[in-house]
Amino acid sequence: MNTWQQYQGIYVHIPFCVHKCLYCDFASTAGCDTALMESYTQALCKEITARAAELPVAADATIYFGGGTPSVLPLPYLTRLVTTLKDVGLWQHPQEATIEANPGTVTEESLEALRQLGFDRISLGIQSLQDDELRAMGRIHTAQEAVEVLRQARQAGFERISGDLIYGYPGQTLASVQSSVQGLLAQGLDHLSVYGLTVEEGTPLQRKLASGTLSLPDDDTVGDMYDFVTTYVPQQGLSRYEISNYARPGQESRHNMLYWRYVPYLGLGAAACTFTGQALVTNSCDIAKYNEGKNRQIENLTQPELAAESLFMGLRTAQGVNLQETKERFGCDTWSRYGRELDQAIHAGLLSYDAASQILRLTAKGMQYGNQVFAIFC
Ligand code: SF4
Repeated sequence: MNTWQQYQGIYVHIPFCVHKCLYCDFASTAGCDTALMESYTQALCKEITARAAELPVAADATIYFGGGTPSVLPLPYLTRLVTTLKDVGLWQHPQEATIEANPGTVTEESLEALRQLGFDRISLGIQSLQDDELRAMGRIHTAQEAVEVLRQARQAGFERISGDLIYGYPGQTLASVQSSVQGLLAQGLDHLSVYGLTVEEGTPLQRKLASGTLSLPDDDTVGDMYDFVTTYVPQQGLSRYEISNYARPGQESRHNMLYWRYVPYLGLGAAACTFTGQALVTNSCDIAKYNEGKNRQIENLTQPELAAESLFMGLRTAQGVNLQETKERFGCDTWSRYGRELDQAIHAGLLSYDAASQILRLTAKGMQYGNQVFAIFC
């Protein structure tokens, strides 16, 4: 059985956060209502059991608990979820088992417990190492607490630790972004995700910007931040393996690579998305509806749609996409379908194509202006 006929990764969504960050539009709810967490855990265990046999699962399928803030779910609930995944064979010998955590929600003891449960990789939402910026984002931790949690995570036995940072947030300067990136790398991180801020509709941040209470750094400053991150981080030995992700060799997120390679994965929990290889299945993002097992959407994709999506995802990575593989997999000849647009992007310096290997990939300029390329496939 090839990798396109079985789930290669399992995603579990935990839609709870202590407090909603100003910029966030992820599927999560503020406040940690115990009754809601209990009913959600029950519903999630039910879904895990019901969907375990829907497609074969690779024995080494990756595990990823994301959110929201998975680390706010009390340990007994996390234990029930992990046990259920193991009981039904979705968690066998994962190549990687990641849990996302907010530094304001873990302790030395809870980190050790997560390690005991079987998680071997932790992804910490740090976002900045400047306290004034963290406050302005609505984060619940300080810079010092974030650094302390990094130390505790290592102490607890996590050898694979990732940190997230944001640049382009109101109040940030080039110097403050430089200081956060340098400060985090000085902690010996092997994986770093650095996201340019996207202002999402309906968030408190968007309203504050619209009312003039806050303003974004100007475009030149944001460009300088981008130039710094994309130059400095690789100089420290972390390769840029995806538009926003950097890692030392072997430290790349194996789970996230599944999305970019467009292989099947199973998404469990509210708002979680599954890719079966032929269809996208999306659970309701409304926790109450999810708990009742309602509002799951199924979108069957045609071969051209699958091919377009695989190009869209694969081009995010430094390794790019193999067009021969795309043709074998989806029966789609990329050049016949998109030749004119791809030629234009190549002439604009956004894409490069190696005819011998049939690899199409973004150039350095394309990595910065990827949306111009991705629009080709929409
Ligand atoms: S902790 Fe993460 S998921 Fe929760 S509100 Fe903040 S950014 Fe969103």
